Amino acid sequence: MSDLNFGNAFEYAPAPESTPVKLRRQYELFINGKFVAPSGGKYFGSVNPATGKRHARIAKAETKDVDAAVRSARRAYEKVWGPMSPAERGKYLFRIARIIQEKARELAILESMDGGKPIKESRDVDIPLVAAHFFYYAGWADKLEYAFPGRSPQPVGVAGQVIPWNFPILMAAWKLAPALACGNTVVLKPAETTSVTAMHLAEIFQEAGLPDGVVNIITGAGDTGAYLVGHEGIDKVAFTGSTGVGKQIASTVAGTRKKLTLELGGKAANIVFEDAPIEQAVEGVINGIYFNQGHVCCAGSRLLLQESIHDEFVSRLERRIETLRVGDPLDKNTDVGAINSREQLKRITELIGSGIEEGARLHESSCPLPEDGFWCRPSFFTGVSASHRIAREEIFGPVLSVLTFRTPAEAVSRANDTCYGLSAGIWTDKGSKIFKIADQLKAGVIWANTFNKFDPTSPFGGYKESGFGREGGLQGLMPYVRI
Ligand code: NAD
Ligand code: MN
Repeated sequence: MSDLNFGNAFEYAPAPESTPVKLRRQYELFINGKFVAPSGGKYFGSVNPATGKRHARIAKAETKDVDAAVRSARRAYEKVWGPMSPAERGKYLFRIARIIQEKARELAILESMDGGKPIKESRDVDIPLVAAHFFYYAGWADKLEYAFPGRSPQPVGVAGQVIPWNFPILMAAWKLAPALACGNTVVLKPAETTSVTAMHLAEIFQEAGLPDGVVNIITGAGDTGAYLVGHEGIDKVAFTGSTGVGKQIASTVAGTRKKLTLELGGKAANIVFEDAPIEQAVEGVINGIYFNQGHVCCAGSRLLLQESIHDEFVSRLERRIETLRVGDPLDKNTDVGAINSREQLKRITELIGSGIEEGARLHESSCPLPEDGFWCRPSFFTGVSASHRIAREEIFGPVLSVLTFRTPAEAVSRANDTCYGLSAGIWTDKGSKIFKIADQLKAGVIWANTFNKFDPTSPFGGYKESGFGREGGLQGLMPYVRI
């Protein structure tokens, strides 16, 4: 089958999602258990990236609102959530997880509308993982002394959490679930282009009867985030986003009592050896970079091919990207959705331009793109050298850079030749080679003969400029306890 090229002989009819959902026209702030208008009366637009049109108004939090959210979190921490028995806290988290499952379809559609990712990903990956994270950490709530035997783990206090737009509701779950399980309260700030599902999560907290103030959600842009992380009233900062902002936050927090975790960028190497099962590797590489339009910090954005298989692999990749379906995120057949924002599309386009200018060769899918909205063809570069910007900088789009190597040692040194160290992939038929190579890679997560697989029981996080601290698993409790 792999050698047959069906091309477009089998065109699917459009299969748009037909479940009706309630996208509100306007979203308020969630402070002390209630939805409240922002004190300045200002709102900003959230855009549907598949149409380029504004589809909701989001409250802009002023500093006064952030103050109120932090106060509310402090009160809830001291009066309710802190003193509550751990088993009782766990019950709330289990209830939240169950309601998320009940509302899974609606949440998936909202996520795809607001962020541009294909419905098959939000439906089959993001939302199930959101529920799984709450279930997993609900289980830890009353077992913390088993996680830290012989110690007596205490909550840290109030956590300020700032999250990005690439996995909006999943990043909210990654941050909230362990914080709450350990007895902390939270002020969360979603990314300005993707605030919608966080506010629906707030409705779920209300429905679950979560005590007022345990979670507060404030919406706004970078200035709101900066004010939150610098706030006197918080004890812990957790951030996921760009390395530039991460460095600013690290300097803000330095010398204060605040605990800090940072999950920043990546430029992962996906290493394919000549003995790898080639069809599987092609699929893994495709999933590694075109999943969520490449808006993935751990995306396999550098493909390292052993020289002997370069030509065959590249021609297979060329054929495969032609069959990726780009378009309506709400269509069940869509593989690659819309780029999250006009700004992100501009960054991607600029980096593609730099690749061409520096002499690499661009291979692009010939697929048609919708007229409105923000789109980028799945593409890859060959003839890339290690000094090219496309080999060094995070593109955060559906663009892969292909490099080559001759020996395992060269593969390792090329893979590690980056300021990042979040993830990596190894493709080979030989188990011993996997262990040998994995040992030498400076990356927090290493996949072997697969890529972009996530599980709440497994810790995730980086080395070097990809940040520090782990999310997920038992290790994911550590940032939220004092021992
Ligand atoms: P960003 O780092 O600017 O934004 C992430 C979050 O931080 C958002 O909620 C934003 O409002 C907030 N923020 C911005 N400035 C802040 C500040 N000074 N203090 C506190 N919070 C602040 O990311 P971006 O501009 O949306 O994207 C830029 C690049 O970042 C992307 O091209 C990509 O390379 C990278 N990125 C990485 C991840 C990741 O998961 N590691 C996610 C999104 C973006
Ligand atoms: Mn949006």
